[in-house]
Amino acid sequence: MNKRRYIKVGWLVDGSGRAIQEQMLLTVKNGVFTDIDRYEEPNGLDPAIVTDLSLCTILPPFVDCHVHLCMSGTTDQDARKQQLTADYAAIRPRIAEHLHDHFSHGVLAIRDGGDRQGHALRYKNETVAARKEPLILQVAGRAWHKKGRYGALIGRYCQNNESLSSAFSRENDSIDHVKLVNSGLNSLRVFGHQTSPQFSADEIRELIIQAHLRGKKVMVHANGQLPVRLALEAGCDSIEHGFFMGRDNLKLMAEMKTTWVPTAFTMKSYADTLEPHDTQIERSVVEKNLQHQLKQISLARDFGVPIALGTDAGSKGVLHGESVGEELKLLMKAGCSMPEAVRCATCNGAKLLGIEEIGLIAKGKPANFLVIRATPAMLPEKFSFLEAIYLDGRPYNME
Ligand SMILES: [Zn+2]
Repeated sequence: MNKRRYIKVGWLVDGSGRAIQEQMLLTVKNGVFTDIDRYEEPNGLDPAIVTDLSLCTILPPFVDCHVHLCMSGTTDQDARKQQLTADYAAIRPRIAEHLHDHFSHGVLAIRDGGDRQGHALRYKNETVAARKEPLILQVAGRAWHKKGRYGALIGRYCQNNESLSSAFSRENDSIDHVKLVNSGLNSLRVFGHQTSPQFSADEIRELIIQAHLRGKKVMVHANGQLPVRLALEAGCDSIEHGFFMGRDNLKLMAEMKTTWVPTAFTMKSYADTLEPHDTQIERSVVEKNLQHQLKQISLARDFGVPIALGTDAGSKGVLHGESVGEELKLLMKAGCSMPEAVRCATCNGAKLLGIEEIGLIAKGKPANFLVIRATPAMLPEKFSFLEAIYLDGRPYNME
């Protein structure tokens, strides 16, 4: 048990954003990396005790910082309506499938962005011991939105004119983080259309103070300049989507080190799955939305905004697990190098979720990593095709 194990890898992408390292030797003891060095020969090691992954690239397990486990990525509108109102008994097996989809695509930690009935929270509470895959699940329960504004699909509003912070402080759901909705949806019909904020800066600040006192981070759905600015100034932990937030907000995020989860693939997916009779979505608009978001990502990279990958899996056409590879490709299209894009999908996500077990391949860290049989140049196309997942230094049996 206490023996050292050695793993030779062709290429290492360690999650920190640094350049790809070739021909590396990883030493593992008690499930933890004790050494990471260049592989040199002769090295006195008995080849029989070295696991040979020299045709493979390894990288840390992925973190998807924005999913909705109750919804599948189906494009069937009737099925989507059903999922929104389905009871827990119907949703429970769906959630189990989605978790399996995440795990089999190397996504070992996910942050749920809320559902209207709190099913994902209930699932987490009721299946602690019974869940099949070793996957870290963090949930928001039901999101908060303003009465009469967008958000009923994923949450609830404060009753009887109660303030947001007072409603929150009465709640005793065992959530991991708080989800607040502070704008409308990004328009799929009018390019650049912005909606007003749902809450005042004071309302948001009071909620965030309460949440932070209870050790919970606050993720804010916000599109457009003003909704994003108010959430940032109030001290939120992450901006979700952030379409059309603008340059000044990106600068502010860089200064405040607030994480951005841009969910760009949602727009590509709307375009890719658009049906001719669909009058709710304008193809040219979603395509322009995507291009605009990629420009914002490029600016964010220049300014040094911490970007964490989130897919909004469960949105139309956005499949659980598989879409992480799609979002990675878009980060690269926006100008991130492959190691930088991987950092968004690993280390930055792990930081946002406050987890230590995954995020980096480094000395002293648990030996958890993904193995892809591909050179780095082939990697973007192969993100979804895993050769193996190693946990504590050993290949995990996927079935
Ligand atoms: Zn969402």
